[in-house]
Amino acid sequence: MEFDTIAAISTPMGEGAIAIVRLSGDEAFSIAEKLFKSISGKELTEEPSHTIHYGHMIDPVSKEVAEEVMVSIMRGPRTFTKEDVVEINCHGGLVSVNRVLQLCLNNGARLAEPGEFTKRAFLNGRIDLSQAEAVMDLIRAKTDRAMNVALGQMEGRLSKLIKRLRQEILETLAQIEVNIDYPEYDDVEEMSHRMLTEKSTYVKKEIEKLLQTSQQGKILREGLSTVIVGRPNVGKSSLLNSLVQENKAIVTDIPGTTRDVIEEYVNVRGVPLRLLDTAGIRETEDIVERIGVERSRKVLKEADLILLVLNYSDLLTAEDENLFEAVQGMDVIVIVNKTDLPQKIDMNRVYELAGQYKVITTAIIEEKGVDELEQAIADLFFTGNIDAGDMTYVSNSRHVALLNQAHKAISDVLEGIDFGTPIDILQIDLTRTWELLGEIIGDTVQESLINQLFSQFCLGK
Ligand code: GDP
Repeated sequence: MEFDTIAAISTPMGEGAIAIVRLSGDEAFSIAEKLFKSISGKELTEEPSHTIHYGHMIDPVSKEVAEEVMVSIMRGPRTFTKEDVVEINCHGGLVSVNRVLQLCLNNGARLAEPGEFTKRAFLNGRIDLSQAEAVMDLIRAKTDRAMNVALGQMEGRLSKLIKRLRQEILETLAQIEVNIDYPEYDDVEEMSHRMLTEKSTYVKKEIEKLLQTSQQGKILREGLSTVIVGRPNVGKSSLLNSLVQENKAIVTDIPGTTRDVIEEYVNVRGVPLRLLDTAGIRETEDIVERIGVERSRKVLKEADLILLVLNYSDLLTAEDENLFEAVQGMDVIVIVNKTDLPQKIDMNRVYELAGQYKVITTAIIEEKGVDELEQAIADLFFTGNIDAGDMTYVSNSRHVALLNQAHKAISDVLEGIDFGTPIDILQIDLTRTWELLGEIIGDTVQESLINQLFSQFCLGK
């Protein structure tokens, strides 16, 4: 495909030692050549691909030296966009990097739209849509595990699985065509039904497997929204502080998104938790008393995980019992804190109230029991010790929606077989399944969607 040459600052805005202006397109080399004076005296176009060169940026109008730079040149198609790419490394700081960008724009490049480099990689056939979306996830990943998932997706793990399913469907459709074309066999209808049942059941199961990973996938992407509840003084703030201190999360600043100040991200053994801050905790303190069990249940319902804290050295109160009622049916870990003090709590009653929930005893002040708590959190969400590196997670809501639709379509095929629906009608639903799966990897998507997806990227990517 033929595109104009685009340019953008590809490093984050703000102070840094180095900043990079990236150019991509047919004119990338000639634009750089106009502006760059190499120390070696050689022209960039004479240099081999994938090499880096030291020199200066010269303003062609004023003939003044604008910047001291290192220029990397990469000829297509062995580049991110498959086009000719030039990366100009200059000094960090807004003034110098903007000056370099401005020079490029004044000399034939156009400012790239957000995500346009990745969009070109997609349009030029280097990556598929799910891989492109993974690039975005990678930029936003908050934990190592989330990063592994995005990396796996970028390498095309999800794409491979989807492609395999689509291939199965395609072969089935082809086989049905063949059967229909040779009606001399009298058991054609029956044969087609049998094969269709077998293949559709397989495809349906595979889609279900992928959908099952989506809950964990979502958690990995967005963090597990976690609320700490308990009566005043049981040690909620202490628990929060202890979790935050031990598990500093990798937080990436994404230009264009405002970070929510009332949330605290921590990474507990690969599970990213989005914790309410202390102010939020204070608010939940008397939440049940204040707004009643019914309404507080609604408030708490937003949470994926509840840490319910009790005081070991105090009697259980009606308030404690109300909390158990308010969190019924949710993912809860019960924490009995202050075990360093004399026992007053009735542990039998605690276990009775807790039922299925895991109960952990802690003395947070002495850092006791925190490890067990962290393990319990990890166990709750990675049952069977799943390693994200080996799994294909579906974490993107667009993918989940498409998989759900595909699941519906393939279920229609199976239902149709049971009802004795004619083969040509079943073919339509099967083709629809094939199309929906194709949308995940961008085989059958519309241009408007592609534009909208890439516009969510940050500038320069
Ligand atoms: P919150 O009101 O539930 O947030 O409770 P805080 O975290 O503010 O703790 C209340 C008090 O209990 C503070 O003085 C803490 O130092 C103390 N505390 C917290 N955890 C423990 C513990 O495990 N043992 C003891 N003895 N005191 C604790």
